[in-house]
Amino acid sequence: MDELFEKIIAGTIPSEKVHEDEHTYAFLDINPTAPGHTLVVPKQKSTNIFDIPESDWLAVMKTVRMLAPYIKEAMRADGLNIVMNNEPAGHQVVMHAHVHIIPRFEGDGLKPWRGRPYEEGEAQRVAEKIRSLL
Ligand code: 5GP
Repeated sequence: MDELFEKIIAGTIPSEKVHEDEHTYAFLDINPTAPGHTLVVPKQKSTNIFDIPESDWLAVMKTVRMLAPYIKEAMRADGLNIVMNNEPAGHQVVMHAHVHIIPRFEGDGLKPWRGRPYEEGEAQRVAEKIRSLL
């Protein structure tokens, strides 16, 4: 699956392109969560958030922000989820960085992530662990 999106960008594998610019390519997901589900990818291959150069990440974010209201309007959606899966543990299947734009509808039944509150003192310990690496 490593080269799949490179072939889509190059046009050797067909896709329903919705937008293209110098640094990014956006196309419909072949197996949409809802019609209009769009993937935005950097043209230059990165695996995911951990190796994408900042400039490509910013280009992807710019394209996502530009497309979001048009996708919402075109699909008459009530909302959108913007999601990036990273690494197999994060449900990443295609190892070329990509951001999902997923139209959402009132009552569409998609479940939000489950959460659980922190235990006493846990949030401070967790935040400190992250801060200590920055
Ligand atoms: P991931 O789980 O890696 O974040 O998502 C990969 C996405 O790529 C999936 O939603 C899947 O439906 C989509 N996908 C996989 N193969 C193809 C393909 O050949 N064409 C298109 N347009 N989308 C694909």
